[in-house]
Amino acid sequence: MLVIISGPSGVGKDSIARGVIGEIPWLEISRSWTTRPPRPTETDESYNFVSREEFLKAVAQDRFLEWAEYLGNLYGTPIPHEDDSAILVIEVLGALQVKALRPEAVWIIIVPPNLDELARRIKDRGTETPEQQAARLEGGKDEVRIAINSRLVDRAVINDDLALAIGQVTRYILGRVAASGLT
Ligand code: 5GP
Repeated sequence: MLVIISGPSGVGKDSIARGVIGEIPWLEISRSWTTRPPRPTETDESYNFVSREEFLKAVAQDRFLEWAEYLGNLYGTPIPHEDDSAILVIEVLGALQVKALRPEAVWIIIVPPNLDELARRIKDRGTETPEQQAARLEGGKDEVRIAINSRLVDRAVINDDLALAIGQVTRYILGRVAASGLT
């Protein structure tokens, strides 16, 4: 089973994904590759941090399920093993590629309670210039628009209260599993 979690940068996708795997032990979070430099808080667990050259070599070798450029950096999901059940925390263009290849993948988007709150959360990260923060906010609005207009999103969840959002995503995934007879 593949579960895609996407939504604007800063909306809390990673916290939700971590909470969900705490509830559903057979799911794991896929570790992406990126050409973005690590933030001070990040470790090798966060991403496989690689050079652009290394990334493009992996693209040429067909090693990604999907990949996309986001604000000047490349991000990609390594092809999961056939039996793995994974959560992919990815932006919307990557999510569309996964849905094209694997239509049975479950796509959940996370939205903020309002745009002021999203702007605050992006600012609180504090590692970027105001211009970069503004680009993330604008990009985030586009992502929600593209996702909703694609009509491929299975479920939208508002992340106002983190525990509630984790519960809603968890229940949705378990409901889909029960309905499909998987696992
Ligand atoms: P950040 O730089 O904030 O870690 O990530 C920027 C955006 O890229 C986020 O929306 C994040 O979910 C997304 N992202 C992370 N990994 C991947 C990936 O493997 N593929 C795609 N398409 N997007 C990713």
